[in-house]
Amino acid sequence: MNVLFVASEVARYAKTGGLGDVSAALPMYLRRAGHDVRTFMPLYKTVDGKGANVVPLLRDVELRLGPHRYTFGVFVAERPGDAPVHLVDCPALYHRPGLYTGDPDEHLRFLVLCRAALEVCQRTGFSPDVVHCNDWQAALLPLIIQTRYRWDRLFEKTRTVLTIHNIGYQGTVGPHAVRDAGLADSANLFHQEQLKDGRVNFLLHGILYADAVTTVSPTYAREIQTPEYGVGLDPFLRARSSTVMGILNGVDYDEWSPEKDKLIPHRYSAQDLSGKARNKEELLSKMGLPNVPGVPVIGIVSRLVGQKGFRLLEGVMPALLRRHRVQLTVLGSGERRLERMFSAWVRGFPKQVAFYRGFSNELAHLIEAGADMFLMPSLYEPCGLNQMYSLKYGTVPIVHKTGGLADTVKLWDPDTGQGTGVSFANHDARAVQWGIEAALGLYADRNVWRRLMHNGMSEDFSWETQAKVYERVYARVVGGG
Ligand code: ADP
Repeated sequence: MNVLFVASEVARYAKTGGLGDVSAALPMYLRRAGHDVRTFMPLYKTVDGKGANVVPLLRDVELRLGPHRYTFGVFVAERPGDAPVHLVDCPALYHRPGLYTGDPDEHLRFLVLCRAALEVCQRTGFSPDVVHCNDWQAALLPLIIQTRYRWDRLFEKTRTVLTIHNIGYQGTVGPHAVRDAGLADSANLFHQEQLKDGRVNFLLHGILYADAVTTVSPTYAREIQTPEYGVGLDPFLRARSSTVMGILNGVDYDEWSPEKDKLIPHRYSAQDLSGKARNKEELLSKMGLPNVPGVPVIGIVSRLVGQKGFRLLEGVMPALLRRHRVQLTVLGSGERRLERMFSAWVRGFPKQVAFYRGFSNELAHLIEAGADMFLMPSLYEPCGLNQMYSLKYGTVPIVHKTGGLADTVKLWDPDTGQGTGVSFANHDARAVQWGIEAALGLYADRNVWRRLMHNGMSEDFSWETQAKVYERVYARVVGGG
């Protein structure tokens, strides 16, 4: 199949979270399965083509979006065995301090990405069977294809799949978005009541017009169809529930497994865990914490935003740190309040807590490899990748039982010796305290802990399996099902 894959980030070139990992891995595995997949993302200022063969494909293409005019070019980055990544070059839009902005032209930045992808199809004669749109940034593509590009027989058979990686980000813009999308002639196809209220919700229009809607775990697929988790879009998802499907993200074990990880100092396996202990020493030394034998280390690697649930820790962590011999290594950045919370613990517990404020892929790998436990108290979690990475690294996850965390972490059962981590059902301070203390209790029993680590390390969430599920979704929409 010919697949056009459009996403705002693709790891290796630019990444802020799980979307980047998925957009790097899924096209690669689909390509290995024999499909012609072409990925599109913006050429942000920070994109580094190191290790790829980057060649120019188009330059100085003029694009008109309502009253706005842009000129873009396209480079193609290729790596052996990988799907080509098309980098849309438009410095006026993409050379900003971060990948995402709160600027008034944020929607235009991604409309240019979408339009550029279609323009490249036309200029190269690439007729996609499936356009795979990711998140709000690409969610208007189904409607754009069905209207503005309808005349072109190249797209006659094209079907669309929208994947929602996080329903918390919907791309809500004023009514001028209709004109900016070049769809003034098709304003009647937008959600009329919202338009009257002065709103255009990009993600909603993906849900309305894509041939299939997927999200990144079965539990999240159910959750977002409820008012509690749907962030206002649940009625629209329920109306299309027969096409809404949850497909768990996979893990690229070439990048994220202790046997193959090129970013950690000591590789190890379930059979020989000695490297893990040495990674722990390395982690503690790098984070400036003392290495005290027998003291467990809890790791956190995360965007520091409300969704991730760290505010639950505010009231309980200081007491836990006083009461237990435990250390905490945190990597992340985001909301000031959360950054200040972790910084305050570093000052209050300098031998127990270390916080690296920022983004570091290398440190993320070292925390996975060196920590004993991994904490994810997310309020909601569409899939979550770090808990799956943690399982493979023998780093026992402590998670709130929601979304993909519920689908991937099984609560330890002392009677059967089954289970891979600790999960708590309620999202409150007592529950997270219970979760952490339960994990500390299990850690104290070496045999139990070893079993838990082994159970987790033998779990398999590989992309080989998950990419096949996407293939079936593609086949279904192409076949008209
Ligand atoms: P989300 O997409 O909501 O951020 P996921 O768990 O799906 O959450 O994916 C997070 C990805 O981003 C993981 O690969 C994680 O290692 C990475 N990540 C998050 N924050 C950082 C950071 N500060 N430094 C390095 N990697 C990070």
